[in-house]
Amino acid sequence: MDYKIALIPGDGIGPEIVREARKVLDKVCEKYHHTFSYSEVLLGGASIDVHGVPLTEEAVETAKASDAVLMGSIGGDAATSPWYKLEPSKRPEAGLLAIRKALNLFANLRPAYLYNELRDACPLRDEIIGDGFDMIIVRELTGGLYFGERKTYEEDGVRTAVDTLTYNEKEIRRIAVKAFEIARKRGNKVTSVDKANVLDSSRLWRSVVEEVAKDYPDVTLEHMLVDNCAMQLVRDPKQFDVILTENMFGDILSDEASMVTGSIGMLSSASLNETKFGLYEPSHGSAPDIAGQDKANPIATILSAAMMLRYSLDLDKEADAVEAAVQKVLTQGYRTGDIMSDGCKLVGTKEMGDLIAQTV
Ligand code: NAD
Repeated sequence: MDYKIALIPGDGIGPEIVREARKVLDKVCEKYHHTFSYSEVLLGGASIDVHGVPLTEEAVETAKASDAVLMGSIGGDAATSPWYKLEPSKRPEAGLLAIRKALNLFANLRPAYLYNELRDACPLRDEIIGDGFDMIIVRELTGGLYFGERKTYEEDGVRTAVDTLTYNEKEIRRIAVKAFEIARKRGNKVTSVDKANVLDSSRLWRSVVEEVAKDYPDVTLEHMLVDNCAMQLVRDPKQFDVILTENMFGDILSDEASMVTGSIGMLSSASLNETKFGLYEPSHGSAPDIAGQDKANPIATILSAAMMLRYSLDLDKEADAVEAAVQKVLTQGYRTGDIMSDGCKLVGTKEMGDLIAQTV
C-alpha cells in the first residue's frame, strides 16, 4: 500500500531521532512491500529560523494532506536560545499547540510499558512489578478544565480565581469510542477514571461511557475514582490495560504512569482526531543538552512510529514487528546512555537505529 507521511524533525535531538525512525520505517516498507512518501514539515524553532513564525499555514496544509504525522520534538534551551526572546505566541511551543488545534487532535495516547530488560529503572519494588506491566492512557485533550471559562477578580479586597470544568456528551462519546477501539487492539479492558462521587461532569462522563460500552460487549469496562487510580498505578500497575480519562486527570496520571517505567527515552505518544489521522511523537522534549552528539535514545520515536503503523495505517503486523525488534535489541544488551546498565553494550543514536532496522 502507498501512504503519505508528514515528517517533522523539529529542534534539538529531533532531526537525529526522526532520521532513525525513518530508517526503521524504510525497512518496514522493504519487508512488507509498502511505499511511504515523506514530506518534511518545519515546526517550532526550525520554522522560526526560516519563516519567522513557529508554524505556517503551508505546514498545516501539508500535514492535513498526509495519512499521519511523525514528529521528533521541538524547542530549545529557554535560558540561551534566541527563540525565547520572542513574545510567547511566536515561540516554538506555540507552534505545537497551534498544529494540534488545527488538526483537531482531541485524543492523546500514552503507553506505559515496562521492558523486562529495563526493570532496574523502574522505581517500584520487584514483587509489585511481577511480570511487568503494559497499559495505555487515553486522555481527552481539547476539553475540560484547561479550556473552560476562567477569570480572576477581587471582591471586597479578596482575590478570587475561577476555572470551569465543562464537558458535553459528544466530547465524552468520541474519546470513549477511541478508548474502546484501542482496547480491542490490546487486552479488551477499559478502566474509565473520574470523580463521579463529587463532580457533575464526572457523573455525565460515567453515564456516556456506559452507553458507549454497550456497543463493545467484548470489552470489559470498569470505573475507578481518580484518587484511587493514582494509588493503584503504584500499588498494582499490572491491573490496567486502557485507562480512559478527561483532560486534567489524564495530564497527571499519564505522567505518573510513564514515570513508573523510569525511562524517558523509551516513551512514545500519539494524538488522534476523529478519523484515523494522528500526530505521533516521543513523550520527551528536544534535549538541547545532548543535541548533535549521537547520544539521544531514538527508541521513543521508533515506538511512536510503530503506534502510527497501528493506529493510523492499520498495519498491526508491521507495528508488532517494530516493537519486537526493539525488544530483541534490548535483550541482546544494546543500550543508549540514558538506559545504560552494567554489562550492557553502549551505542549511539545511529547505531541503535541501525540495530533496530536490521532486526525488523
Ligand atoms: P527534555 O525531555 O528535552 O530533557 C530532559 C532530560 O532528559 C535531559 O537531560 C535530556 O538530555 C534527557 N532526554 C530527553 N530525551 C532523551 C532521549 N531521547 N535520549 C536521552 N536522553 C533524553 O526536557 P526539557 O529539558 O525540560 O525540555 C527541553 C526542550 O524541549 C524545551 O524547549 C521544552 O519546551 C521542549 N519540549 C518539547 C516537547 C515536545 O516537542 N512535545 C515536550 C517536552 C519538552
